[in-house]
Amino acid sequence: MKVAFFSSKSYDQEYFTRINESYGHELRFFETRLDSQTIQIARHYDAICAFVNDKVDSKTIKKMKRRGIRLLVLRNAGFNNVDLEAAAGNGITVLRVPAYSPEAVAEHALALILTLNRKTHKAYNRVREGNFSLERLVGFNISGKTAGVIGTGAIGKAFIRLLKGFDMKIVAYDPYPSDELKRQGIQYTSLEELLSLSDIISLHCPLTPDTKNMIKAQTLEHVKQGAMLINTSRGKLIDTEAVIQALRVKKLGSLGIDVYAEEEKLFFKDLSEMIIDDDVISRLISLPNVLITAHQAFLTREALEQIAHTTLRNLSDYEKGTVNPDNEVNIRHFQKTT
Ligand code: NAD
Repeated sequence: MKVAFFSSKSYDQEYFTRINESYGHELRFFETRLDSQTIQIARHYDAICAFVNDKVDSKTIKKMKRRGIRLLVLRNAGFNNVDLEAAAGNGITVLRVPAYSPEAVAEHALALILTLNRKTHKAYNRVREGNFSLERLVGFNISGKTAGVIGTGAIGKAFIRLLKGFDMKIVAYDPYPSDELKRQGIQYTSLEELLSLSDIISLHCPLTPDTKNMIKAQTLEHVKQGAMLINTSRGKLIDTEAVIQALRVKKLGSLGIDVYAEEEKLFFKDLSEMIIDDDVISRLISLPNVLITAHQAFLTREALEQIAHTTLRNLSDYEKGTVNPDNEVNIRHFQKTT
């Protein structure tokens, strides 16, 4: 199939081009973000391949249909950026990579925790400048502390496996608890109870109308004083202003995020010579107890290989008329997760 890749980076080109040797599709890589304007460059393609911050709204979808494109393949798991109702209404099939390497994201969440806690990012900079002082580098023992895992799907489960190695107490919240985890002794609680018990809270649920701003002023009231909040899922799960306020009054002790509510205009770009036109992220960056990475939790060799294989297989399956139902996202799926 002839496929137009949007928001593509050097690593997408490298992995997809190499792995496509065994699939034989015709791939064209565009760096531009997909939206209702940029879709114009996709002339004479069979499919569009999009990523997390591409804007696949009803306008984009209608234009896809007008160009004769009937397939959208997402090279990621989340699909909150796709108007599924418009896709169904315009006969566009949406396929995704539901799970590629949950360990990659779980390990990044852990990296944020360890870095924030033991301040290795600050120590690294200090030592490079000949500053060997330990002042203000005090952390806490993770062993024996309580972790609250919100969302216990593929990534939440992988994260829990890692936490066990740290000898942590683990509580979880998920409207669909896992029997497997219950059998392992993981205790499910209400969201409020989890927030009140946890020294470290980590978000691993999808962004849906139900979960949008699940961490807001009201919920932050339940948080244990000084807790660490980690978000590697989607930025809009947290009300950033409310979280900044909670950091200010020391209700939250620290924040580690790989995702940001308004990341579309910032992440995946080198803006180092520009003035960042976003006061909220500028305030976050200025706080000493906040660590931000730019949506890189998925970025391991293993994950990139798996993403390329599943995406290319999705294209081949569609061509043969044998779509894998587990990889298809449709409006029914969306209704189930809300
Ligand atoms: P998954 O579908 O396997 O698991 C999601 C879990 O969240 C499910 O168990 C579901 O029941 C639960 N859930 C649904 N609504 C909830 C709610 N209101 N409260 C608590 N839990 C709820 O998904 P996954 O593969 O584990 O991925 C989780 C999320 O991680 C994705 O939706 C995506 O947003 C994010 N993600 C981020 C990156 C990154 O690079 N930062 C990469 C991949 C995925």
